[in-house]
Amino acid sequence: MRQQVDLSQVDLTGTMEDGIYIATIKHMERKPAKSGNPMRTLTWAISDGPNLGREIRYDNLVLSGINQKGDPIQPIRLAQLLVACKIPFTCEECAGGPGIQDDRIHTITIGDGTNGKKRGHVYCENGHELRIDFDDDTLLGASCRVEVATETNDKGRSYNVIKRYLSLD
Ligand SMILES: [Zn+2]
Repeated sequence: MRQQVDLSQVDLTGTMEDGIYIATIKHMERKPAKSGNPMRTLTWAISDGPNLGREIRYDNLVLSGINQKGDPIQPIRLAQLLVACKIPFTCEECAGGPGIQDDRIHTITIGDGTNGKKRGHVYCENGHELRIDFDDDTLLGASCRVEVATETNDKGRSYNVIKRYLSLD
């Protein structure tokens, strides 16, 4: 049967408007970055509103290693993600040393330069500078609000990226 369909307004670039959305981690891949540094690549799915089910792919979390300048990589995005999604993890000092796991949900605080805490650094609720141990499988199904933006690659193709993670409350 022949069927008439209007494709004149279809946008295959598939980007959504920049803004804040609720999203869930749908898929995770363990693959090193080009630099060889350990990385997790997340696929998010929008879990609310008119863009329900739409995916944002290739959200890379580099976990450790050395950057191109030779400085240690700061896993800022992972810290943001742990806070936003309330991912359980072990704070080495709270647990009593490396290799001991308790997988609690910690309340991370950000230092403001007072009380011996460095400005912008992250601490557990007991004031420890965070050295953590976490189970990356707990990322699957985690939800938070994400700030979505649009970028364009050198071939002129637009795609959505996640700028930062924000907690649901
Ligand atoms: Zn601690």
